[in-house]
This record gives sequence, structure tokens and C-alpha cells, in this order.
Amino acid sequence: MSDRLLVIDDEPDFANFVARVAESCAYEVRTTDNPTEFRALCTQWRPSHIILDLVMPEADGVELLRYLAGVLCSARIWIMSGFDGRVVDAARRIGTERGLDIVGTLQKPMRAKELRAVLEQHHTEETVVTVEALEEALGRGEILPFYQPKVVLNSLQPVGFEALARWQHSSQGTICPDRFIPVAEASGQIDALSETVTRQAVSQMGEWKGMGIEARVAINLSAHNLHEEALADRLNALCRHVGVPEESITIEITETAAMAEPLRALDILTRLRIKGFKLSIDDFGTGFSSLVQLHRLPFSELKIDQSFVKECDSSREARIIVKTMIELAHNLDMSVVAEGVETEAVLQTLADLGCDVGQGYALARPMGAGSVPAWLAQWAARHPHGEFGGR
Ligand code: C2E
Ligand code: MG
Ligand code: MG
Repeated sequence: MSDRLLVIDDEPDFANFVARVAESCAYEVRTTDNPTEFRALCTQWRPSHIILDLVMPEADGVELLRYLAGVLCSARIWIMSGFDGRVVDAARRIGTERGLDIVGTLQKPMRAKELRAVLEQHHTEETVVTVEALEEALGRGEILPFYQPKVVLNSLQPVGFEALARWQHSSQGTICPDRFIPVAEASGQIDALSETVTRQAVSQMGEWKGMGIEARVAINLSAHNLHEEALADRLNALCRHVGVPEESITIEITETAAMAEPLRALDILTRLRIKGFKLSIDDFGTGFSSLVQLHRLPFSELKIDQSFVKECDSSREARIIVKTMIELAHNLDMSVVAEGVETEAVLQTLADLGCDVGQGYALARPMGAGSVPAWLAQWAARHPHGEFGGR
């Protein structure tokens, strides 16, 4: 039986967003904005998980927490609000002290990726990723990179690929990184994970080079990888061993990741740049202090977060934000990549705004290394003059 998630929120758009993400994580979902219906669903439908908005016009979350404690609700509960974090924390304490299973707080607005990671981590089913299972997967070589093309927008030439970790699970099929990276980060397995993804990606570049495919590859590193001072030397040695130039590798770091241990991160990232690696600030615009990071750390590429990209053809605000980010990056001599390009309209808008490179489902989904040569051949046949979709 799947997990049942009950969402109470007075903003239907937001409740629908949560529902869509939760359904994609195999939750059965009900949403309501009505406290009476909420109470009825709690006792009759018996949710295993609850997301509770703290501030609603008709009822406040604290009142509902009191109600849940009264009916001895055993669901795992997240308290959510766009409110000051201290208020949410106070509500959390009230819930915990009343014996409820408060598993966390959610701050509005949030990204699908973050919400998915949280929901996946708290599944009660046995499909939950455990440290032991991940350990075995790493030992058995079940974690490998998939590759998603990055394409120059004004010429439609593929410029390289982003390596994205996939777990090829024997019975569950392909498991996406949002489900296991947080586990690896929390358990200390993230070094081993990054090591295996990096090693495979760099040897793959060597193999492609032998076939005449000179592709740049972007590799994601987590904040938790930025503790090892010898990281740059290790990557350097790997490149030499395989015969791949450091300049053809981009290391992608999310802004929040870059922030964790500022001085050490600065040291490690600077050394990577000195050795010739390119550095990209991933998911730009969603972290806490984007501009500070941009100023402090030696990035060579800015990757605009998908949340802005997706709406840049339909929302004036999103377009202005994207345009400003592109100008900002160019003024700092950085190149700009837009991720999450899902439609040709978005692609066209980005090209018009002067964005350098695009990545997303409209161009190609992440694929296994074996599919890359055929994809490149097909792409070249479809776009002999570098044109995309008849533009
Ligand atoms: P990211 O680095 O921001 O990667 C982009 C994510 O967006 C990928 O998800 C990619 O499959 C997805 N994506 C690409 N195009 C589209 C599109 O058009 N629409 C939508 N909706 N999504 C698109 P994925 O592969 O699930 O990876 C999720 C995140 O996990 C990555 O986000 C990255 O932060 C992390 N990750 C992936 N591989 C690794 C790794 O080897 N090490 C570390 N530390 N993190 C990794
Ligand atoms: Mg990335
Ligand atoms: Mg990203």
C-alpha cells in the first residue's frame, strides 16, 4: 500500500504543486484548504504523512496540531510556512511536546527538487534508500553517470554533457540522485559516490576521445566533498592518467553547497581553477546569498536554475530575472547555461536573450554513455546547419 499524504494549505496552486511532486514520489495525495474536511480526512482516510500550512485564514496550524495530538495521530508531519523561521520552530516544538511525529519544517517557497528529496527520505515503504543498500550499490558498481547534452544556443552545436548519477538497482530499476544523494551526504558516503561518478566520467571522456568525440563534461560535487584539500590534485592526476585536459571538465557546485565551509571551499575551488578546471555555480538564484558567492568564489560559468528558465517565455518577471542573470554573468566574463529547457519557445527566448548554452528535455534527456555516439550522429543529421526544429 502506498503512503498517503494529506496537504492542508489555503493556496490551491501551492497545494497542487506539492501534490504533483508527491505523486511523482509514489504518494497517494489529498489536498484541502478546509479545516473541517482536514479533520474528517485525518480520522477516516488516515494519512501516513501530513503537510500542514501554519498560517491560513480559517484555522491556524497550532490549533490543528492540538487537534492531531488529541486524536493521537501517528502520521509523520511537516509544518510549512512562508513565515519567519522562528515561528515555525516554535510550532514544531509545540507539536513535538504534544507527542506528534514532527519530521521537519518546510519553508515556502521551495523547489520541487528539495521537496522531492524530503518526501523520498520519509517514505515508510521499504523502497526507502538505506545506508547499507547504498554501500552495497557502491561496492557492486551500480551507481553510474548518465549524460545530458549541453547545446550552444546560437549554433545548436552540442558542446558537452553533464554527468548525472543514476543507481541501476537490480529490482527497482533506475533510481534518481535526489533519492540517494541526501542519504550519501548524511552518511559520509558522498566522497565514495563522487569518486566513482568522477572516475567513470573521466574515463568515458578518454574513451570518447579515442572515438573522435571531443566532449566537455560537467561533474556535480556536493558541499560535503569540499573538505578534502587534495581534491584538486586527485582530479588532476586522474586527468593525466586518462589523457584528458583539465579545461574540458567543469565542476558544478550549488550555491548552498559552496557556502557550507567558506574558507575551505574557497581554497579548494581556487586550486581547481588554477589547475585548469572550469567551475560552475549550479541552480543559480535559489541559494541564500547568490551574489556573495559569485563575488567570493572563482566561478567561470553561471547555471540559471530551472525554476526561472521554465517560465521565461510566459512570465515577464522570470524573463527579466533571466535576462539580468545573463547580463550579470557576461559582465563578469562568465558563460551562462540555462537548465530545464523543456520547450522550443523557452529555447527561442533564451537564444534571444543571449544565453550561451541550453540543457533540457527539449534538447535531450540524460542518457547512458552507450547512447551518446548515436545521439550525436542523429543530432548532426537533423541539424546539419546547426538549426533546431525548423527555426
Ligand atoms: P542538477 O545538477 O541541477 O541537474 C539538473 C537536473 O535537472 C537533473 O536531474 C536533470 O536530469 C534534470 N533535468 C534536465 N533537464 C530537465 C528538464 O528539461 N526538465 C526537468 N524538469 N528536469 C530536467 P537529476 O539527474 O535527477 O539530478 C538531480 C540533482 O542531483 C542534480 O541537479 C545534482 O544536484 C544532483 N546530482 C546528480 N548527480 C550527482 C553527482 O554525481 N554528485 C552529486 N553530488 N550530485 C549529483
Ligand atoms: Mg548540475
Ligand atoms: Mg542545476
